[in-house]
Amino acid sequence: MSDLDAFRAETRAWLEANCPAEMRQPIRSEADMCWGGRNWTFQSDAQKQWLEVMAERGWTVPDWPKAYGGGGLTPEQAIVLKEEMARIGARQPLYSFGISMLGPALLKFGTEEQKRHYLPQIARGEIRWCQGYSEPGAGSDLAGLQTKAEDKGDHWLVNGQKVWTSYADKADWIFCLTRTSTESKQGGISFLLFDMETPGVSTKPILLISGNSPFCETFFDDVKVPKDQVVGEVNRGWDVAKYLLGHEREMISGMGLGEGGSLGAATKPSDPMLRAEIAAFDVDALAFQAMSERFTAMWKAGEAHPASPSMMKYAGTELNKRRNELVMAAGGSDALEWAAKQPRDWLRSKGNSIEGGTSEVQLNIVAKHILRLPGA
Ligand SMILES: Cc1cc2nc3c(=O)[nH]c(=O)nc-3n(C[C@H](O)[C@H](O)[C@H](O)COP(=O)(O)OP(=O)(O)OC[C@H]3O[C@@H](n4cnc5c(N)ncnc54)[C@H](O)[C@@H]3O)c2cc1C
Repeated sequence: MSDLDAFRAETRAWLEANCPAEMRQPIRSEADMCWGGRNWTFQSDAQKQWLEVMAERGWTVPDWPKAYGGGGLTPEQAIVLKEEMARIGARQPLYSFGISMLGPALLKFGTEEQKRHYLPQIARGEIRWCQGYSEPGAGSDLAGLQTKAEDKGDHWLVNGQKVWTSYADKADWIFCLTRTSTESKQGGISFLLFDMETPGVSTKPILLISGNSPFCETFFDDVKVPKDQVVGEVNRGWDVAKYLLGHEREMISGMGLGEGGSLGAATKPSDPMLRAEIAAFDVDALAFQAMSERFTAMWKAGEAHPASPSMMKYAGTELNKRRNELVMAAGGSDALEWAAKQPRDWLRSKGNSIEGGTSEVQLNIVAKHILRLPGA
């Protein structure tokens, strides 16, 4: 038996013994997704137990080093773990911007002290993070951001406003882009971390047509941030911001994979035109899955082109929108039942091609950096 086969057998037995039955059920609502953090109320004992046993083993972040709370798995072992979890329908134990966005940036740009302080807390789900990038006048033109951090000797003094900050009202800490110099646009940005309970931080939920408020306006009014809470060099935060965006785009591209399985088998529509569209979709989804596996392996090995997350993000989010359109079409008028998951997933999928940078912006990046089109 190869080492990897032995690892698979061990993992299968461990998951069988440790994953509660309730955590093998499909996600039905937002509450089924454990986000952790200081204010998190576990939906059940099973949800709490699943997070604790997985964190204890370092498997909330299987491929992070053990020294920072990870599982220390090789990329091949991490794939086996993912496959074995999928085999029994195990839920992800922790959803976290700390894992998918900040963690990789800290691993690359953080000081050793920052890594040892923040990463294990992220791995255990103790801090819930939000992302302070977009501002009222700086979305696609992110480097135009105006939130100011002034050097006051022993601290930064932060003033300004962010917008569309997902879950800012529920988060414990924020990773935030601030302007520390006006001499150059990209060259005057610094990447700060601070506690959302710091005096001067306030949030105002933005109410959507669905009645939900998944994101907020976030205000900073004379917020004092300790000097050592800057990641990377002062005025070089754009490097950190871009690297983090690559990971965010990789994470969002995963939406293209859906919940697995063929859409044709799940929907079985009688209309031949719709059947043909769904068959074409299933073929494209399989192609995307193959491309995604190849890309993820190259990305983790540091061999992917820096602009390829844009290509994946565009392809994955457009595919996810198409999947949701087809599910709605196959469901007919029943699919409009507001209390059901379908119409909410359909509306939410529209946001995929805006968050993390719009589809148009991704196409510009692909045109310029991958296709090298003239004038792009
Ligand atoms: C669900 C969701 C969650 C989000 N969560 C967060 C979060 O947690 N934190 C955060 O900081 N932000 C968050 N955002 C904000 C998101 O990053 C911005 O909405 C996005 O970057 C676009 O910026 P904007 O809304 O200002 O649109 P704009 O930049 O004003 O763009 C408006 C339109 O113009 C197009 N456009 C702009 N520039 C160009 C160009 N050069 N070429 C071609 N077309 C162009 C865009 O594609 C778009 O269609 C979230 C957004 C959504 C939808």
